[in-house]
Amino acid sequence: MTSFETEFLNCLNPSNKKIIGSIPITSFSQIDEIFQNATLAFNSFKDNHFSLRLNYIKEFKTMLLNSSDEIVDLIASEIGKPRTESYLAEISPCLEMCDWLIKGDNLPKAKTFKLTNPILWSKNNQIIFEPLGVIGIISPWNYPFSIPVMGILMAIALGNAVILKPSEKASLIALKISELFKATTLPDNVLNVVIGGSVTGAYFSKLPLARLVFTGSPNIGKIIMQNAASQLVPVSLELGGKDPAIVLADAPIDPTAQGIVWGGFTNSGQACASIERLYLVKGKDTQKLIDKIVELTQKLKIGDTTQFNQKNIDLGPLIDSESLLRVDSLVQDAVNKGAQLLVGGKTREDLGGYFYEPTVLINVNHQMKIMQEEIFGPVLPIMLVDNLNEAIDLANDSDFALCASIWTKNTQQAKKIASKVIAGTITINDCLFAFACPQMPWGGLKNSGFGRSHSFYNALDFVNIKTISNDAPSRFAKIWWYPYGLHSEIIAKTGILSLHLRDFNKGINSSISMIKAIKDNFSPK
Ligand code: NAD
Repeated sequence: MTSFETEFLNCLNPSNKKIIGSIPITSFSQIDEIFQNATLAFNSFKDNHFSLRLNYIKEFKTMLLNSSDEIVDLIASEIGKPRTESYLAEISPCLEMCDWLIKGDNLPKAKTFKLTNPILWSKNNQIIFEPLGVIGIISPWNYPFSIPVMGILMAIALGNAVILKPSEKASLIALKISELFKATTLPDNVLNVVIGGSVTGAYFSKLPLARLVFTGSPNIGKIIMQNAASQLVPVSLELGGKDPAIVLADAPIDPTAQGIVWGGFTNSGQACASIERLYLVKGKDTQKLIDKIVELTQKLKIGDTTQFNQKNIDLGPLIDSESLLRVDSLVQDAVNKGAQLLVGGKTREDLGGYFYEPTVLINVNHQMKIMQEEIFGPVLPIMLVDNLNEAIDLANDSDFALCASIWTKNTQQAKKIASKVIAGTITINDCLFAFACPQMPWGGLKNSGFGRSHSFYNALDFVNIKTISNDAPSRFAKIWWYPYGLHSEIIAKTGILSLHLRDFNKGINSSISMIKAIKDNFSPK
């Protein structure tokens, strides 16, 4: 291949392994050009009034509403996501984000303030929030629309330009995102898309971006952080999860089983916040709850989500053969070490794509890989525990800490447990939904990364928090300016002690003692 030849990326439908598109990979020189153009676009876009930026968000919202069916179809083809899930977890969160931004008063606003130290009382101080620059977003394939779009909307509302490097497994969807923004009056080159896989991502993550927002696996997150460090680019890392669900003995059987089954299997378990570990505190109804989970799992329908006569498909395929192998080997490892399969446990490539049966395992323990590594597939491992403390200890015994859920009728107790479980988000009697809410900060600790997407706190990542302090010119030098000497030391000490002891006499007495000590030191002996 010569440097003039274009490389292409084949886009696959994981439900039937057929190629649904072939698109050019962005070359390194094109990436450089895109970055330069985005920088130029930012330089004029940043001065746009906030209300004008919100107009672009309003226009995007209209485009999104008009195109939602088409987007849902595309997500079904490229990712294999069931259509209901696309409406709820891809389209709706972006519409919510549009509304949250359009409301206008959720983002950081300029404010003035006075300083507490009396010697600084003449100053008028202000904090303003300025657009930051060109923001890079590297996104995963599992929520191929909502993850990048929610980040793009936030960044643009705050006056930044964006370059998106989507997953190579969701590139057609990314081009659709670009098309939607192009159909608005957003100025050219404010939103840009770079197409490619890991090689493209590695090059992209070394650009002198204003911030790099990465969502993906912990191993790639570490590479991203190293690459970004070469230019001291600040990073946000939204990484994997191994979310525990703690079920107390009083949890009502039907809604708990329904919630847990959905939390384990939605998007075929390919969610960072899927329930990947279930700790059931033993009680009189434990067996009934397990039976219900198994019964509901057996009823789930798996299949090709692009078949329009099959709108009741609950689970689509896994994304690729590598995922299928990983999930199967984790299940086999657990079974070989003594876990018992209650339902599922088999690949279903006979259905034409990368399908895996929704699977429930019991008799698992923390020595098994299935309780340590991210499964990212439709497997629900259940562990019975004797008491609550054991459940909390096990929930915290993980390299990950993204979300956790607690299931019980006892809200007070659930809140106490929430304070003891290490995670970024805790939900009581539900799971996963928080990602869809722009008001809720989203992110984790440990191998789940750092930084928060969504909410006011994420907005702070996309701005330069600038402080301006204004003083009128004075006839006198400030007391902390040069020259230093005994006088400045006495003033400094008296002032500080008087202020912080809240007692001028003590302050002055202490300074007098200091003067005496100095005098004694220099007196002839
Ligand atoms: P991934 O880490 O394989 O890829 C993520 C992105 O990084 C893709 O765009 C990919 O092309 C790019 N990439 C790959 N190698 C790279 C390199 N060397 N340099 C730069 N970029 C590179 O993840 P994935 O398989 O797309 O997504 C699944 C992972 O994402 C899971 O671990 C999941 O838990 C996590 N995830 C986390 C969240 C969250 O909010 N915390 C949300 C969704 C997914």
